[in-house]
Amino acid sequence: MSAGAARIQGLTMTALAEEFGTPLFVYDTDVLRDTYRRLRELLPETVDVFYSLKANPNISVCAFLGAQGAGAEVSSYAELVTALRAGVAPRDIIFLGPGKDPHELAACVDAGIHAVVCESLEELRRLDALVARRGTSEPCPVLLRVNPSFGTQGSGLAMGGKPRQFGIDEDAVRGAKETLARLSHLRVLGVHAYMGTRFLHHGDVVHNTAEILSLAEDLAGHLGVPLETVDFGGGLGVAYFDNEEDLDLDALGAGIRDTVGAFSARHPKCRLIMELGRFLTATAGTYVVRARYVKQSMGEWFVVADGGTNHHMAAVGIGSFVRRNFPVAHLDRPAEPTVRPYTLTGPLCTPNDVIAKRVALPEVRPGDLLGVARSGAYGPTASPGLFLSHGFPAEVMVHRGRARLVRERDTTEDLLAKQRLVDFGSAADRAATP
Ligand SMILES: *Cc1c(COP(=O)(O)O)cnc(C)c1O
Repeated sequence: MSAGAARIQGLTMTALAEEFGTPLFVYDTDVLRDTYRRLRELLPETVDVFYSLKANPNISVCAFLGAQGAGAEVSSYAELVTALRAGVAPRDIIFLGPGKDPHELAACVDAGIHAVVCESLEELRRLDALVARRGTSEPCPVLLRVNPSFGTQGSGLAMGGKPRQFGIDEDAVRGAKETLARLSHLRVLGVHAYMGTRFLHHGDVVHNTAEILSLAEDLAGHLGVPLETVDFGGGLGVAYFDNEEDLDLDALGAGIRDTVGAFSARHPKCRLIMELGRFLTATAGTYVVRARYVKQSMGEWFVVADGGTNHHMAAVGIGSFVRRNFPVAHLDRPAEPTVRPYTLTGPLCTPNDVIAKRVALPEVRPGDLLGVARSGAYGPTASPGLFLSHGFPAEVMVHRGRARLVRERDTTEDLLAKQRLVDFGSAADRAATP
């Protein structure tokens, strides 16, 4: 173990890799807490922060954020169960997603969550009928997810102003007054809109927030429903690539406080929700791999590691013409001078399994540990973990200087346990074959 090795809360990555094996995701609760608190401090009190489990559905990550005060935005039955078991109060949970099944809708009703975010008029009808059948006395609280007519700028993945499977088109909401009035088993609390992800400019987020709040006011007036909750999404990004810069949080806070302040003065009782995944968890996570081979091909240096895009598809840098790299560090000897560019690949049998291309690093030798920083969001959850049957990696959380396993590594037995072997070898089978 080298004295200069990278550390998390005093523990060396070298020691963590020895104890838990590689590939490995490591989450730092100090960073999780500081990120949450920083956001909390700059938002007005009327805004609740909900954690989107999609970014990292690990139950301990959810529980940690929940303990800091975050609610949960879930999009599947499993995520709902995760949030509840993580200790998030039902009143601080919302469920959204374009294709909820009846069993998921029923679970929302049973759990008594803050709101089901409905994404179509048909879904509203089905939920209304389901509540009627269950004979619950209370109407089920819902938010209308609106697909706004306006578009947005500055997002890596923009929503709004486009045909989408998400939400109800703004015009259709305007025309739904009678339909909604007939759905007596539902109570419309307000409006939800999500304008996209990876916003890195505060002006875009503030602009979206203002547009959504004004849309919500307008729709509520039009439909004649009180405005009890507005979820204005968020989509805050983190800088991954060297051409990006992190959000200016002070400017974001000032802009949101202005916008929200004016709205809350008109609607003092309205609960506002900002729902965020990436921003809350990305910077807290590191993907740790061990170099297996270091080789040259036609003048280029390759590090072939024990994990790759099967656990960290996002590092491929989808959507950009120029290949950009996530921040990569040599975890055993981070302070040594860089010697040459290395292309970091994984063990998959596909040329696309490239975690970073030509990234300058200190000398890498087989057995060395490398870390991809800012990897706490959309890692395993957004990756083809079953490719080549490697399975998903271990996940470890470092809290108060102590490392705990929060997800076991998949074993071969885990992977095979769900498969069924047909016996083609019996004599009877062979005889029956023409
Ligand atoms: C994916 C998603 C989120 C979380 O997005 P981040 O960019 O990770 O914050 C929030 N709301 C909705 C509707 C989403 O689809």
